[in-house]
Amino acid sequence: MTESLQKLFIYARKSTDDRDKQVQSIPDQVSELHAFARKNGIYIVEVLVEKQSAKKSGRKVFEAMLGRIAKGEAAGILAWHPDRLARNMTDGAKLVELVEQCDTILRFPTYTFENTPHGIFCLTLAFGQSKLYVDNLSENVRRGMRNKARRGVHPSRAPFGYINNRNTNTIDPDPEYAPIVVSLFEKYATGKFTFQCLRFKNRQGKLTPTSNVHWILNNPIYYGLVVWGGETYEGVHTPLITKKLFDKCQAVMEQRGREVRKHDSAQHPFRQLLVCAYCGCSITSSIQKGHTYYHCTKKKGKCSGKYVRGERIDEEVRSALQKISLTSAMSEEIGGKLRELYETETRAGVSRTETLRRDMKHCEEYLDRLLDMSLSGDITRDEYIAKKNTLLDEKAEIREKMRSVSGDGDSWLEPALSVIERATAIQNITASTDPADLSDFFKEIGLNRTLTGHTVRFTPRSAWKALYGAAACRTAHNSHTTDRECVVGCTGKSAHQDSNLGPSA
Ligand SMILES: [Zn+2]
Repeated sequence: MTESLQKLFIYARKSTDDRDKQVQSIPDQVSELHAFARKNGIYIVEVLVEKQSAKKSGRKVFEAMLGRIAKGEAAGILAWHPDRLARNMTDGAKLVELVEQCDTILRFPTYTFENTPHGIFCLTLAFGQSKLYVDNLSENVRRGMRNKARRGVHPSRAPFGYINNRNTNTIDPDPEYAPIVVSLFEKYATGKFTFQCLRFKNRQGKLTPTSNVHWILNNPIYYGLVVWGGETYEGVHTPLITKKLFDKCQAVMEQRGREVRKHDSAQHPFRQLLVCAYCGCSITSSIQKGHTYYHCTKKKGKCSGKYVRGERIDEEVRSALQKISLTSAMSEEIGGKLRELYETETRAGVSRTETLRRDMKHCEEYLDRLLDMSLSGDITRDEYIAKKNTLLDEKAEIREKMRSVSGDGDSWLEPALSVIERATAIQNITASTDPADLSDFFKEIGLNRTLTGHTVRFTPRSAWKALYGAAACRTAHNSHTTDRECVVGCTGKSAHQDSNLGPSA
């Protein structure tokens, strides 16, 4: 270059949302450009700085600069690279026009531009590539993530409890934090913990907000699914929990949602426990002259339900629990019978596996057909997603059942034995001085818990039904209750058909 002193603007630009971390900072660009100007005999009219992306046209400093060049304030622009000047075709065209019509000079330390038809063609390409680069970057990132999710790979940073495995490109359980996630689900499933008391310390050692607990408990990734862009995919990562445990937590959450108020369990241990048998409203409590009374909320209007002293409810519940308690000798005998039954069943389990395999195959075929229907436009995308998510849930369930049948998952034996164990522990619970313990246990065993006059009635949950029946059988009393309903005051009924504790559906 042998021109006399060129009078140019320095134009430096870097946007805060610039994805390209390799772009130099504005002070670096300016100092490099000054050095370049000194070496090449360029006179700097003014340094113009812009902190805005060049993806869209309409940059203020850039537009003003073009205006001043058109007026002749400077002969052209000195910038680090063409992509500093334009990353969209509109701005690129404006520059080319200036170059072609006003002989405007463009100088770049990193790029040689000559004002010839060939030079202008190359410059246009440079602007075009910049634009392409920006477009591709975001689209490629999005497409890459979508494809990853389709292959069942969690596409972004590993969620809490997992770590990114750079070799396999997927996520692995985090040895340090995965146990926290598991215990979170296990604790919440008991129904005894709120989000607040399940808060935990994160990697920074800070107590997380309750919203994080909520997020974890609602995230299907922990039982093996990947949710991305509103769609669900089967993950290839190791699940931390079973779908069963996840569903249990969901059920607890739903129940909580219904419980509008939290109560002081010390003074009102049996609130949220019973429903009025006359009108179906819940039974609440109030304190009168130092005594706790339980009574109908009468939200639906008049009700003939009575006021019942807290001590009476306590007695009723204790007596109900005692009915299903077992002595250690009895629990040993029943436990032995259950194990025998389990072994017989395991032998029959082989055919069950076959059925499940067939179910799984149907599920997969249906998924394929669904995709075909979606591709051929027979169903809408929303319909496709909704149906697909249901099917994937179904698949997860079948897979769990398969594990259970093959013996490396949950079997009915464990829960049944734990019921026996709980029943043996009732002796301790009924001796407890804390009525809240009684209330918790009563919820565990009984459904449809009502208060009729001064009497507490309930239906034993399926796992406890057999035990309750067996207990009643022991006392060999004349039956005067229906099969489904047990009155605490009643000493028993005949229930031979229920006298073993086989698997419940
Ligand atoms: Zn009532």
